[in-house]
This record gives sequence, C-alpha cells and structure tokens, in this order.
Amino acid sequence: MTDIIRLLPDSVANQIAAGEVIQRPASVVKELVENAIDAGATLVNIYLKDAGKTQVQVIDNGCGMSETDARLAFERHATSKIRDSKDLFSIHTLGFRGEALASIAAVAEVQVCSKRTGDELGTQINIAATQVTGQTPVQCPDGTIFTVKKLFYNVPVRYKFLKSDSTERNHILNEFKRIALACENVSFSITDDKTEIYRLPITNLRQRIINLFGNPIKQHLLNIETETTLVKIHGFITKPEYAKKSFGEQFFFANGRFIKHPYFHKAIVQAYSGILPPEYIPGYFIYLEVPSDSIDINIHPTKTEVKFEEEHAIYQILFSSVKQVLGKFNVVPSIDFEKSNSIQIPVLRPDTKIYMPQITVDTGYNPFETSDNYRQGQHDRQNLQNWESLYTGFENENRQPDIFTDTVNSENESLQTTTSTHFQLKGKYILTSVKSGLMLIDQKRAHERILFEQYCVQMLNHSSASQQSLFPETVELSPDEMMLWLELRSDFSALGFDIQSVGDFKVNIHGHPGETGKKNPAALLCKLLDEFRHTETDLFESHRERLAALLAQESAIRYNQILTTEEIDHLVEKLFNCAIPNYSPSGKQVMYILKMEEIEKYFL
Ligand code: ADP
Ligand code: MG
Repeated sequence: MTDIIRLLPDSVANQIAAGEVIQRPASVVKELVENAIDAGATLVNIYLKDAGKTQVQVIDNGCGMSETDARLAFERHATSKIRDSKDLFSIHTLGFRGEALASIAAVAEVQVCSKRTGDELGTQINIAATQVTGQTPVQCPDGTIFTVKKLFYNVPVRYKFLKSDSTERNHILNEFKRIALACENVSFSITDDKTEIYRLPITNLRQRIINLFGNPIKQHLLNIETETTLVKIHGFITKPEYAKKSFGEQFFFANGRFIKHPYFHKAIVQAYSGILPPEYIPGYFIYLEVPSDSIDINIHPTKTEVKFEEEHAIYQILFSSVKQVLGKFNVVPSIDFEKSNSIQIPVLRPDTKIYMPQITVDTGYNPFETSDNYRQGQHDRQNLQNWESLYTGFENENRQPDIFTDTVNSENESLQTTTSTHFQLKGKYILTSVKSGLMLIDQKRAHERILFEQYCVQMLNHSSASQQSLFPETVELSPDEMMLWLELRSDFSALGFDIQSVGDFKVNIHGHPGETGKKNPAALLCKLLDEFRHTETDLFESHRERLAALLAQESAIRYNQILTTEEIDHLVEKLFNCAIPNYSPSGKQVMYILKMEEIEKYFL
C-alpha cells in the first residue's frame, strides 16, 4: 500500500483560502483600497466594469512597490505590515494578514503596475490563477495601479453565486462608504462603466458624510464628542426624524477601522428609545478610540467583528453620550423617569414659556374598582371604542371608498350591503363564510396581491395609470439613490412614474402611479429606492416585477384601516380574480381556512 496524504498545490490552497477573503467584487474593492490607504495614498480612484464582475481597477498615489516586493506581495502570508507576533497587538494598518493579494490572484487575472517615488522605472507584473505570467519594467506614475479582471473565471460555482449588477454595486458602495468615512483625509472617486458615482475631495468628517449621503442629511447631524480614560468617542448621530426603517446609515469605527458591533448598536438604539417609533433605526457615525492593546481585531478574517476589553463600560458611556446629545438638542424630554434614578433638572431658558399645570380628570375612573379590574375596565372601554369605530364607515355617508379606483355601483350598493357575508376583524382580517368553514383573509396582503397583478398587466400593456401633478416636485437624491434610479428609470416609467433628472442629484416628479393612496410621490420614490437597495430576493423575474411588488406593498391599504362593506366585497372579489390569490407578491400567506371540523371541536 502506498501513502495517501499529499500536500495541496499552492494554487488549490490559495483558492480555498480565497473563499474566506474574496466573496464578491466588493471584497476585491475593499482589499485593494485598504492596501492603497496603508500605502499612504492621498488619492484613490476606483474604476469598475459591470459592477466589478468584469473588472476592478484601483489607482493610488501611495508609496509603490519595488520589483521584488511586487512579486512577493502575491505570496500567501506576505506582508510588510507586521514582523512578529507582538506587532499583532499594536496594529495601525488596515491589512496585516498578507493574504488578500494571494487570494485575489488565485481567483482572477491580475495586473499590477507600481513605482516608488525616486525610482526611474516602475514594474509591471501579470498573474492569473496564482501563476506569474510575466514581469517587465514599465513607465508609470508614482504609486500603484491594480487591475483585477474576470473575477472567479476559474471557479464557476462562485461566479454563479454573484447577484445582479445592482446588488453587487450596492455591496461595493457599502464597502466604499465604510472606507471613505474612515479616511476623510484621502480623496476618492468611484466610477462604474463610465458613470462617476462619487467624487470625494479631502475634507472634514461632517462634509464627507454629506458628500456621501446627500444634502438632505445636513440639517440632521448632531455632533457627539466624549472623552474618558477608557475610550474617546467622536462623530455624529442623526436626529430622530431622520431615522429610517432600513439599515444603511449606521457606522462604527474603532481606531480608524470600520467595525460591526451589535452590542454597541443596542446602546444607541436604547438611547433613542421612546422618541423613535418601533422599527425605526437611528443613523450614526461613531468613532471610538481605545488603546490598541485593549481591542482584538484578529478574531474574524474579514475583520469587521472586534472584541473590546471594556465592552460593558463602553456601552454605558456610549448610551449616556448619545442620550446627552439628544437631550441637549431638545429632542428628548429632559426627565426620563423610566431610565434613570437620578434627578435631572430641566434647563430653563429665557425664552421658555411657562404654563400653568393642567389637571386632567379620568371620568371613567371608579374608585371602587381594584387596580386590576380598573385596568380591565379601561381595556373593555377601549375595546368598545374599537368596536364602535368598526361601524364608522357605515355611518359616514360622504366617505369615499378611496382605496379602489373603481367606483361602487350605487344601485348594487344596498343589495351588496345587506347580502354581504364578509366581516372585518380588528381592522386587519376579513372573515368570510366558505363551503368548508370560515375563511380569514389578511387585508393588506390581499390588496398587495391585487395591486401587484394589476401593475404587472398594465406594464405589459403599456397602460399604467399616471397621475400628473400640477407642479412638479423636486427631490434631492443621494448619489447612490441617483445611480439606482438611473438604472431603474425605464421600470419606474413603466409603472406610471414621470420623473426627469434636473442635474445635481435632483429629479423632478411630474407624475406618479394613479393608485397609490395618499402617499406623497417624493416620499414614495425615496422609499422604493431605499427598499430596492436593502432587500434582496430571488422571487421576481425582473427588476420591474420587484419594483411592482414594492409599489404594491407601499400602496396597499394598511392594517387598522376600517373598510366599508363595499370595499370589503370588492377586495374579496378582486382577490379571487387574481392568478395567485393565496400568496402576497413577497410570498406570504394571504388567507387561511378555519375548517368546520376544527370549529366544531370547540363545541364538543
Ligand atoms: P496585507 O495588506 O495584509 O499586508 P496584502 O495581501 O493585502 O496583505 O498585501 C501584501 C503586501 O503588498 C502589503 O503588505 C504591501 O506591502 C504590498 N501592497 C499591496 N498593495 C499595495 C499598494 N497599493 N501600494 C503599495 N504596496 C502594496
Ligand atoms: Mg491588504
């Protein structure tokens, strides 16, 4: 018998290692740009083709590499940034593992041109699948030009898992923002297929945030600054009214490096509690400085998760700093009985109006009720109110059924009202009797399904209803919203939006889809772009369908919306005319049947 254990060839070992470091074009951008920063560059230009799938090029004016270093840089564990293990505890560079270039070279074609200041000529090296295919002296500017082509050309399974260009571009822009926010003293640009997405001059942090997220964020930034022996904190938080339902503007940096930190995130969210509606996430750009030996950045290969020695103390410091800033800008009540035991004295300013204390009397209070049944009493009264509000739709004769464009035939109205077997429960479900039992329909999901199918048909027939505005509304978009809108503009217009670009990241909305309820068109556009950017799904065949689903989600009737009998009848009828009535466009159950046998079990 022969021995069976063999050493893997370098190319295979590198490909395996690459799996951890290089997952998508965004990882290439991140590694190359971080190397440029570590090389002391003050100018970094990024050029992409097909959202980086075909090519990522990064040009920097950093220190450059010698002929030998340029070759060595691609060896695994080749780094100029640490020499021995004690250096691991005082890392001041973004990279230090020496595996990024080896990983990239294992799964793509790479060309590097690099020249150190003072060298007469630079060096050019070509590598593909870990093999150096040539190295020659070249004329090139000081600094380094990395060109990475055909990512995953030799690993088809990985290539297959890449998402659409807009998704991959989104990942790249996320990495880009993280680095750009950490290095406001470096000028950056990023261009995809000839469209320049960002050009960021060297500036201060506040202006860098504005350049990245667009002008609208400007008046919502609150400065935060705290210095303790454990940690120094600086940066910005955003005012509560700027909070959004999706993630995208939450950034922590530790010693100049972007990090993710769910626990510190909680500290911030906690500080906003009570002043933000549930599900809204405050925006923040928080920079923590701690002694480098009190932090371990070595626990994750892509290095976004880090461990702090004094996590609990930092949580507290962060929580109170944010709370204090919110209080200072008068966005939280100064006394918060639930959160603190200490007494805080509200600041009295010369312009503060003084009001007489008001007494409100709860006329429903019965002193003979115990506290428990008092609460129950209140609860019952509330229920009664809900119950009564259920019928307000019937009582108000002038009420327009504003959610359906089709008007109800008045001759049938009374007939439908008296014969209707549908019933709305708690402003959320429609109950209706069917052959096999009792059917429960989720009203919002049902309406989403109806609108979605309607939009799809209209788009197919080029007959989308557009409601023209008397005066166009101007909306300022952030650079990446603009980029996404440019990509989706034909889909937006197919849906009934009439939007024109007026330059400077501004667009004018001249018209919007007819059936969108009372939604403000500008808010609707921003919401759709935001949702499109932050949700990823393989459910839809095209961007157009996905956009239609999002529009349906935004335009559908809400929960707690009381429906008239006619509206309920219409909803049910339209739902059952849908091709797929059982599921909402995003795949959620629309209806459920409570079988007779199940019901009967309750009465045995
Ligand atoms: P690490 O950044 O962890 O050291 P990399 O594989 O990313 O590992 O890079 C290997 C080495 O190549 C770096 O340590 C650095 O010396 C050199 N290098 C990479 N990119 C550049 C660049 N843009 N300019 C100068 N040197 C670079
Ligand atoms: Mg590196």
